[in-house]
Amino acid sequence: MKLHMKIGIISTGSELLRGIIADTNAAWMAAQLDAGGYQCDRIVAVSDELEELTAVLQWAFGAFDLVVVGGGLGPTDDDITAQAAAQAGRWTITRQPDAAEQVRARFEHIGRPMVELNLKQADLPDGCRVLENRHGTAPGFSVKTERGQAFFLPGVPSELKPMFETYVLGPLPRVTDPTLRVELRCFGRGESDIQQALKPIEQQVPGVGLSFRASFPEIGVTVNATDCAQLERAVAEVRRILGKTIFATGAVKLPAACGQVFTESGLTVATAESCTGGLIGHLITEVPGSSAYFRGGVIAYDNAVKIAALGVDPAVLEAHGAVSEPVVIAMAQGARQALNADIGLATSGIAGPDGGTAEKPVGLVHLAVVSNEGVVHKQRLFSGYGRDRVKQISAWAVLRMAFDHVKENR
Ligand code: ATP
Ligand code: MG
Repeated sequence: MKLHMKIGIISTGSELLRGIIADTNAAWMAAQLDAGGYQCDRIVAVSDELEELTAVLQWAFGAFDLVVVGGGLGPTDDDITAQAAAQAGRWTITRQPDAAEQVRARFEHIGRPMVELNLKQADLPDGCRVLENRHGTAPGFSVKTERGQAFFLPGVPSELKPMFETYVLGPLPRVTDPTLRVELRCFGRGESDIQQALKPIEQQVPGVGLSFRASFPEIGVTVNATDCAQLERAVAEVRRILGKTIFATGAVKLPAACGQVFTESGLTVATAESCTGGLIGHLITEVPGSSAYFRGGVIAYDNAVKIAALGVDPAVLEAHGAVSEPVVIAMAQGARQALNADIGLATSGIAGPDGGTAEKPVGLVHLAVVSNEGVVHKQRLFSGYGRDRVKQISAWAVLRMAFDHVKENR
């Protein structure tokens, strides 16, 4: 196949067009191609109407060197992809013995009885290559087209992904000179603010392009270059301008970056969460291996829990209110002691939409990190974010404080 291929991804299913599911398959495949140095030219979503799909496939066979189609290979009446492919390419459909054997073997493997209808999944265009599906019952297939090749994969993501890797991406020729790129992950500054601050770099360093991706609450800054020296120069400049806003390079999320510094320092962590309601614990435990450093947490929503489980002094609560510096510090301290950890993280805030006052408005959050090395406290006002985002950004903010605290003290 040619190196500069025109590539089209076709996703089928009325669920996509009705907004019931998002086309994450296409996004995933496009990202895989991109990482391999290939660019996808079109992503198209089509309903599972025979005429519609046939017309789109006919067009795609003529328009692209490589066509990847996802979905509609199942046994039910709305699974019409093989039929549409056959009409588009003027092939006949017959039962493919290889495919029938795969379907039978798959049912035997999972120990479920097969009904005759399942063999419909083996009715494929003549002359196609049958692609084994090790994670489901519907085999895929590929056909030669006017311009190149088309691959048909099942829609279930856990089936589509390994098949895409094995049959589509794996055999593609390695692109020798992909764009050189580095992704820097940032937290603590807004997207437009970051973009503004980095603007001069594209003029200063020729051949360098910057792109920005906001995935709340973090911002990814990607530096693209065509030459190694330029890339290094531009990345150094981004680092100089953004400083501590950058917490990692590459595909590392903040909780994983925290996990790495906790592990390296041999420190254990406990949480005391009020407004974040357990979200910090969730983020920490999403990282495989977090049991090595995460002791546990207390969701201390009610003041009575702050007193009973974390030992917060009722008089301090009375004098300052739950959303206050002394209380959030006492919570972090309490979590550390109660759960026998080196570092305590705590949040207390007003996530909204109700509960704000003139003195303590919605979005006001107190954050604390306590360890043997000292106490860090921050007060933040995340106004206009909405409840869900106040919770998310608060959890990230306190993790970020812990990350910096540990790094600074080791
Ligand atoms: P099945 O044998 O399950 O019918 P299929 O190949 O016919 O597989 P579909 O019926 O199109 O595939 O999709 C099965 C399920 O896979 C959908 O209900 C949906 O949850 C998921 N899915 C399908 N297409 C996509 C897509 N483009 N992005 C994300 N998920 C998808
Ligand atoms: Mg289906």
